[in-house]
Amino acid sequence: MGRVPHRCPKCGQTTGCVHDYRVQKIKHTQIFSRRTAIFYRKRRYVCKNKDCGKRFYEENSIVERYQRQSVEFNQSIGIELIHGKNFKDVASRFGTSPTTVMRHFDKISSSMLKETNQLPEVIAIDEYKGDAGGEKYQTVIADPIHRKPLEILIDRKKDTLVAYLKEHGANIKLVYGTYITT
Ligand SMILES: [Zn+2]
Repeated sequence: MGRVPHRCPKCGQTTGCVHDYRVQKIKHTQIFSRRTAIFYRKRRYVCKNKDCGKRFYEENSIVERYQRQSVEFNQSIGIELIHGKNFKDVASRFGTSPTTVMRHFDKISSSMLKETNQLPEVIAIDEYKGDAGGEKYQTVIADPIHRKPLEILIDRKKDTLVAYLKEHGANIKLVYGTYITT
């Protein structure tokens, strides 16, 4: 990252004084099928205010606080979760554990997905072997235009899908998918 003035989080005074650097290893996405890592030389600023002297890390777009994976890595896992076969498969491709992948799955399904109230005009429906909640297969509903997962249903039963679409699918005009319903 370039050196830019930062506001002290404690007293609000602007500072450009560097205190020190720390190298952080961050898991990144695969490049040409090889696992990659970013070695990020993280800068720490020090507040010039004599009464404060707070030391703090620079803002960055590479890694979120308290995370060891890059933002890009987390986003790719989210996308893979929609296209991948199962947690184990996604985990081995990302060089991480199925537990980590499951955590991402939970995060997507609980935060981002709950926002969906009415589905868009075009949706894609697919099944997903997630082994979640005692069910082997889940149903993934996605927005194929914006490439965003919208909802994950607990199983792939017709009744579940019909009930869900009745409640949220009033705007739907086109459905893509391998899911067969009668
Ligand atoms: Zn300060």
